Amino acid sequence: MIRKKGEVKMPEKILIIEDEEKIARFVELELTHEGYDVSKENNGRTGLEAAENGGFDLVLLDVMLPELNGLEVLRRLRRTSDIPVIMLTAKDAVNDKVSGLDTGADDYITKPFAIEELLARIRVALKRKRTPAASSSTLTVGKLSLDADSHTVIYDGSAVELTNREFLLLKTLMENRGIVLSRDTLLEKVWGFDYVGETNVVDVYIYYLRSKIDDRFGVKVIDTIRSVGYVIK
Ligand code: CA
Repeated sequence: MIRKKGEVKMPEKILIIEDEEKIARFVELELTHEGYDVSKENNGRTGLEAAENGGFDLVLLDVMLPELNGLEVLRRLRRTSDIPVIMLTAKDAVNDKVSGLDTGADDYITKPFAIEELLARIRVALKRKRTPAASSSTLTVGKLSLDADSHTVIYDGSAVELTNREFLLLKTLMENRGIVLSRDTLLEKVWGFDYVGETNVVDVYIYYLRSKIDDRFGVKVIDTIRSVGYVIK
């Protein structure tokens, strides 16, 4: 890492969650050599804990891990953190890559990898973190955009008035774009674990959203997947 004279900069902190000691050790040495501050965990459970509490700038996350697999670590981590995550996947494990990216991984690299490639991907992910897009709180799907900070929803230039619950439901669907969410999942994410009542409350609120967006603009934003749940594609 090249630094200008007189520039004081804290090294960026990287967490490696990898149970193969040889790989973890090798990556640790290379990253340390590049000037990063590196920590290692060798199972999913302690890895998740460290990722949540360690003040890291980036996580390198293996998929096949003891205790808690990498995809599950990522899924749980994404509830509270948008820290850059690069998945380390086994050769040709296409499903892992797709699931990883769907779950919110920033990038993945296939083992065995050239260290130069990993370093390049780390630099890109860290740079993206330092210079986020104009507004990282804005979600966009086609002509529909939702801004979490200002609590506004716009479809093709027109404002859409939503109640808090409708807003949260739409936000959840947009954040999980392309992933079919079951009624139970939506209940848990939008109404909370302790919700007591009819599960058809989800259908009712989907109906409200559709009348305010799909019906009003004559489009099909929210898809119903029969006997599974709902998805925004
Ligand atoms: Ca492994």
